Amino acid sequence: MSNCPLCGNTASKTFPIYYFLKEKRFNGRKCKSCGFVFIAPRPTDEDLQLMYSDEYFLYDGADCGAHSSTDYETAAIRGSVKFPAILGAIKKFKPAGKFFEVGCGMGYFLNYAKDSGYETSGIEYAALGADACRSKFGLDVKQSSFESLSVTPEAFDVIFMGDVLEHLVDPLSMLRKAHAMLKLTGIVAVEVPSTFNAIVGRVAVSGMKLLGKQRKMPMPPYHVNEFTPATFRAILFKAGYSQVKIIQRVKAPSTITLRGSAFDKTVKKLLQYPNYTITKTFGIFGDRMLGIGVKQ
Ligand SMILES: [Zn+2]
Repeated sequence: MSNCPLCGNTASKTFPIYYFLKEKRFNGRKCKSCGFVFIAPRPTDEDLQLMYSDEYFLYDGADCGAHSSTDYETAAIRGSVKFPAILGAIKKFKPAGKFFEVGCGMGYFLNYAKDSGYETSGIEYAALGADACRSKFGLDVKQSSFESLSVTPEAFDVIFMGDVLEHLVDPLSMLRKAHAMLKLTGIVAVEVPSTFNAIVGRVAVSGMKLLGKQRKMPMPPYHVNEFTPATFRAILFKAGYSQVKIIQRVKAPSTITLRGSAFDKTVKKLLQYPNYTITKTFGIFGDRMLGIGVKQ
């Protein structure tokens, strides 16, 4: 059994979701000590190569392609509606300087940061994404995993990871690596989904527990970490950041991705309306979070 990626504790209990990659099963676990939710076993290098092949970007099915109802590029373009909110929050801390993105996909966000005045560079694990960053936008992007990238100490003002941390097998050490690469007073800005913090996710988990069932997630095990506001804050502190700020957001009901049975889709859509109002009003139950931490 895998140790908790946040606190290292060996004791965990069932979290009622699971995934399949080919014939291999990956189970949801919740740490008994810190409450962190993660997938075990952790994917091997072989599993990762399979999941992040070109198919990830080109295919729009559920079983081995991108985790969206559309292909990756369509999803990336649609996702750009959130760029002003994310970059706006970053600019409050660091309005200019050297901006490094870990996992820039096809480069849409990095290009947006470049256009707004940052000196940008980045890495992308998937070959197809890295190529698109260079050919489409002329961005300074290298194909590399963050794990295998050598540290350039104290080089950057901003390190951004958008929809990356939930994919990383060792998220704590990668946040520490980002810390080492930041200049003093530099910031890390990390955008993650928080599926099980939103009302529909909470309802689904409670329902599964009540029924003693586990839900098969309709995609490969891309998300190996599931953050709540508490565990997101905890991992940023543990990685050495100060002044940690967690901003919760919620998708508008008209823009959410619906999958599963007709019943699932109806429930998800109906719950998104009150969720939208509650998150907008009180900043809780968000389905996405932006975490910002400062290196001091
Ligand atoms: Zn733990």
